[in-house]
Amino acid sequence: MANTTVLKDANNVWSSCLKIIKDIVEWQHFKTWFEPIVPVELQGNVLMIQVPSQFFYEYLEEHYVNLLAKTLKRELGKDARLEYRIMVDSSNGRSGSMDVPASGSKTFNHNEMNFPLVIDNPVKNPFVIPGLKKVQIDPQLNHNYTFDNYVEGDSNRVARRAGKTVADKPGGNSFNPLVIYGGVGLGKTHLAQAIGNDVKRLHPNKVVLYVSSEKFINQFQDHSRNNAINDFIHFYQLIDVLIIDDVQFFARAEKSQDAFFAIFNHLHQTGKQLVLTSDKSPKDLEGLQERLLSRFRWGLSADIQLPDYETRIQILERKMKNDGLDMSKEVVKYVAYNITTNVRELEGALISLLAQSSLNRKEIDLDLAKKVLRNFVKTSSKEITIDAIQKMVCEYYGVSYDKLLHKTRKREIVQARQITMFLAKSFTKNSLKTIGEHFGGRDHTTVIHSCQTVKDLMDTDSVFRENVMEITQKVQLASM
Ligand code: ADP
Ligand code: MG
Repeated sequence: MANTTVLKDANNVWSSCLKIIKDIVEWQHFKTWFEPIVPVELQGNVLMIQVPSQFFYEYLEEHYVNLLAKTLKRELGKDARLEYRIMVDSSNGRSGSMDVPASGSKTFNHNEMNFPLVIDNPVKNPFVIPGLKKVQIDPQLNHNYTFDNYVEGDSNRVARRAGKTVADKPGGNSFNPLVIYGGVGLGKTHLAQAIGNDVKRLHPNKVVLYVSSEKFINQFQDHSRNNAINDFIHFYQLIDVLIIDDVQFFARAEKSQDAFFAIFNHLHQTGKQLVLTSDKSPKDLEGLQERLLSRFRWGLSADIQLPDYETRIQILERKMKNDGLDMSKEVVKYVAYNITTNVRELEGALISLLAQSSLNRKEIDLDLAKKVLRNFVKTSSKEITIDAIQKMVCEYYGVSYDKLLHKTRKREIVQARQITMFLAKSFTKNSLKTIGEHFGGRDHTTVIHSCQTVKDLMDTDSVFRENVMEITQKVQLASM
């Protein structure tokens, strides 16, 4: 009997184990978690296997230890034991390995082992810092985006505080995922980055990664072309705090959504934190799989609104302090009062003021502010609202607001409604969907149809064209 044991080596014991495991474990999991394992040596009834990372080891221990134990016992008898060799990098930058016995218990504590979070793994890592011998994950954070310089106001209070909670206790809070949503230039990226920066400050050992959904999709497609989707997913599963910016771009990227779904589930299940931003609330996100949207609802969705006047003043003052700029309160108020679109425009106005002042060697005073803002407002085209356009059309045609919105099919009213939609499309940045909603919940195809009808009629009917031109001029004046 002893003879047969002697004849066995690590390779054939392991390949017998794999044959069994292969039948039990899903193919994808098998490829991810078992193929990368290398049998190292067999000593008596102890098989040593090499795994690519700390994380990999923990994952096997958590999910597959019973399966491994059972199959190994079939091969080596009831006293069979498993030991791991984990590929790690020591802090001096030289790769090495460390051996640990399989336990089946979950008492192994990553931090107690005091591993540097540097992993010598063979995974093709999309964020490796090239040129370094060690493989490290660069969090891709911009250090200028902090909580300190993120002004709190009614418009962002919930989102900011939830963000702070997440940064204090990533994964260990009920805001998982934290979905931050709101319009362009309102501070979503800033807040998401501030969370990442704060996690790094408070928990230096946590692996943080900030990535835009577009970058994620591009990387996914690259890996997909190279048949390396497993590497891709595996890499993302190493992250403790994953921040994905602008998830609305996942719409129409079906395969990337699948990968994201797998990563999301894994991270969420293992208590890792997800932070997502989006330009719409999860319920209005079109083109995203329902199974993803339903998971977004597991945590907290917090919106960011347009900052009010007071908050705009504070934001301007914070910026000025950061940049060592001086401006009278009068000018600050003037800028805050006139720039109401979003925070990015507010910053843009400040930069223009600064540029003009240094170009003309003039102090920033109210006169200069008025001049600059006039230009600024013109180029950025102050946005007139759909409501304002509706009122102007009603006045022009002498129809009631109520009729314009509701389902009257009278020809003049239908036409007035179509012109209003056309103007709303031309003079505001609202989506077709939003415009439709302002007309008693019509859908975007109605808006497209209306715009087309107006254009066609203008080509064929000169009286109609005159009218539309006249009213267009009024709207133009109002939006200057
Ligand atoms: P979004 O991602 O929502 O389009 P950003 O996060 O890029 O917007 O914000 C646009 C600019 O406005 C950034 O420079 C950001 O620093 C600034 N900003 C936005 N909100 C605030 C705030 N509450 N306090 C200070 N700066 C802000
Ligand atoms: Mg952004």
